[in-house]
Amino acid sequence: MKHRLALIGYGGMAGWHHSNIKEKIKGIEVVGAYDVREEANDKARENGLKVYASVAELLADKDIDIVTIATPNDFHRGLAIEALRAGKHVVCEKPVTLNAKELEDIIAVAKETGKLFSIHQNRRWDRDFLIVKKAIDEGIIGTPYFVESRVQGSRGAMHGWRGHKQNGGGMLLDWGVHLIDQAMQMFPEKVVSVDAHLFSLYGSEVDDNIKLLLRFESGVSVLLEMATNCFINQPRWHVSGTGGTLIVEDWSCKGRIVKLKEDGAMTWADDIVYTEAGPTRTMAPRPKHTTQEVPLPEVKADWTEYYQNIVDVLNGKAELIVKPEQALRVMNVIDALFASQESGTGLKVNI
Ligand code: NAD
Repeated sequence: MKHRLALIGYGGMAGWHHSNIKEKIKGIEVVGAYDVREEANDKARENGLKVYASVAELLADKDIDIVTIATPNDFHRGLAIEALRAGKHVVCEKPVTLNAKELEDIIAVAKETGKLFSIHQNRRWDRDFLIVKKAIDEGIIGTPYFVESRVQGSRGAMHGWRGHKQNGGGMLLDWGVHLIDQAMQMFPEKVVSVDAHLFSLYGSEVDDNIKLLLRFESGVSVLLEMATNCFINQPRWHVSGTGGTLIVEDWSCKGRIVKLKEDGAMTWADDIVYTEAGPTRTMAPRPKHTTQEVPLPEVKADWTEYYQNIVDVLNGKAELIVKPEQALRVMNVIDALFASQESGTGLKVNI
């Protein structure tokens, strides 16, 4: 028997959920939708969905057992709690809420009702992320000590409601939540300090260009950068390990690893580079015979695992992959990053 799902909010991302579930997830049928905008409801009808007159009418439909929330961020908390109380399982778009307290409210209701609550952290299935995670897990470049993860564009302001504070707009909540979640998946240990540099280049309401530094308990540091004002992009990932360096250029996942050869001990020969204003031995190129270039590891990256896991959990066959408690740690980090920006300095944390 298929689980029956309805969408609350039928904008850009809801259309993506609808078409991808329809095409790829056998255990779920998308049957209905509700949006506050009539044009969006017309679109849902055109796409074969039953359109409800209100959230209350949708939630009263006994035929629906899963609700996916894909509205602007400020509605997530209220809608998730209402849907859980109506006896529905809930998948919520990211950022799950505007802060940790709002998510704690949802988690309390999910516990009380015993219903499934998960967050669509789909970028855990990004191929570039999985490649870097695998290279780190397998120790291909030794012990990682500095990871740089960037998404950079040059299209200026945050688009539509993402430009408004009231709607939970801004880059930290929009992309920050993805990159922080990825970093915390990569290093499942405590975050011990955070430092946020949030710039608002295209308006005063929200942050649109941001640089975040997270320090983890083992000593590894992660720099996360998200830009709408970058005209010369850096690689999507640059990872420094004790035994080598890894680069993933972009979402097409071109990249390479240069690592030390086991028998490639360095000898300090007389290689000296003479720059215009002086010599340097430290920055002279490394002798070629001491390093080797190896390809990035192969990974399986399949987003359908997200909804397949929801089906398996509901059928009692699996444990939830994207857990609310993980999202709560991410939201606690985001709260601390906003506090860091407010105070103009890095902060010690224990998250
Ligand atoms: P959008 O503006 O395209 O769509 C939002 C829709 O919600 C609109 O049609 C709007 O009319 C409707 N809406 C607003 N308030 C509502 C309410 N109270 N009840 C019902 N409908 C309401 O925005 P979007 O890009 O689809 O973003 C929606 C959510 O999806 C956001 O939380 C966003 O962060 C998330 N998102 C996630 C990803 C991802 O990769 N996981 C990508 C894009 C967006």
